[in-house]
Amino acid sequence: ARAKTHNFAAGPSPLPTPVLEEAAKGLLNYGNTGMGICELSHRGKEFKPIVEGAEANLRKLLNVPESHAILFTQAGGTGQFSGVVLNVLAYLRSKRASTSYEEYRPPVLDYVVTGAWSSKAHAEAQRLSIPAVPGGKPFAEPRIAATTKPSKYTTLPKKEDYDISSDADMVYYCENETINGIEFPLDPNSPFAFPFDSVPKDALIVADHSSSFLSRPIVHLERHAIIYAGAQKNLGPSGVTVLIVRKDLLVDTTEACKLGGCPVVPIMMEYKVLADNSSLYNTPPTFAIYVSALVLTYLLKEKGGIEGLEKTNREKADMLYSTLDEAQSKGVLTCVVKDKQARSWMNVTFEIVGQEKEKEFLAGAEKLGLYQLKGHRSVGGVRASLYNAVEIDSVRILCDYIRTLYQ
Ligand code: PMP
Repeated sequence: ARAKTHNFAAGPSPLPTPVLEEAAKGLLNYGNTGMGICELSHRGKEFKPIVEGAEANLRKLLNVPESHAILFTQAGGTGQFSGVVLNVLAYLRSKRASTSYEEYRPPVLDYVVTGAWSSKAHAEAQRLSIPAVPGGKPFAEPRIAATTKPSKYTTLPKKEDYDISSDADMVYYCENETINGIEFPLDPNSPFAFPFDSVPKDALIVADHSSSFLSRPIVHLERHAIIYAGAQKNLGPSGVTVLIVRKDLLVDTTEACKLGGCPVVPIMMEYKVLADNSSLYNTPPTFAIYVSALVLTYLLKEKGGIEGLEKTNREKADMLYSTLDEAQSKGVLTCVVKDKQARSWMNVTFEIVGQEKEKEFLAGAEKLGLYQLKGHRSVGGVRASLYNAVEIDSVRILCDYIRTLYQ
């Protein structure tokens, strides 16, 4: 058992207590084998069904079509900043296999930069614009198709702010910017909706869903070539990364590289290798996958699936933002994101007005058991993350506490 705390961490973040209780038992003695889950072979009869079950439950929860593979891997979101591009470049090269190296045009990669994480992903792709030989052709031509940097990433681009190249081969976005508290809205009619219609028909859409994964349905999931997410927010412990990959992208990257024009893909990062081996090419983080599998079952059985999660998460975010807006009108704090439709449901950012007031606010919060509310070190301020395992009662207690700033 553990004391009742209200944990608003941005990730790693809280996991459902019943899941952790079950996991604690499994850690000691999995399925009455007399051995703990971390002591069992990843190729044994116990572990395989865990991965298979996790995949099936994830497919069910997010309604992932058969056109897309689900893969569990490692290296986090940061690993996939490189992983997605390397696989995309190999795929594009293999699609143009009859084009000679001399005639091969480096792919155009359009990045939508709306915060710290999409900015890092773009910076990683930028490294691929270094030519393979001095003065030679680059592997890729990354561009910025839209950026909200001038606003310090406190809003999203509107439809007219995008400059997506008509010959873009890939368009990349981050669905929820964890540090800044920005999230693309669900409503396709919102001025801030991601402009799926402006993406050229053949361009691959690649998205980082790390911090919004499993909080609500994914808009146009089927239109994406790759969606990826680190587990440590809504899914499970850190150490697992999930990929949803359109199956035609599962190409032999070695063969693609032989054509010239794309870099070698580390074998552990080749999506085809992961898929061909059912996510068990090498030793996976077995405990993290086990806990994630327990979470998936719990979300389906106890939380009403993705519709249930969407409903609860909307309620939680509405409750906190309306409290913050009221507190803002009283002059005690400011919301970082002013455009309501660009606000994240998962990471709510605000600043306390007055010197030293923020420290006081955070210290007072801890006295009430409201933990891990400090904003990211790069931006400061306060950040309340409202992931799935944060109960609505915890949000209510936080709101009551915020009201004490002016009542
Ligand atoms: N993308 C997003 C949206 C994130 O929130 C994070 C981490 N918080 C990352 C990528 C990087 O993930 P990791 O630390 O697992 O590499």
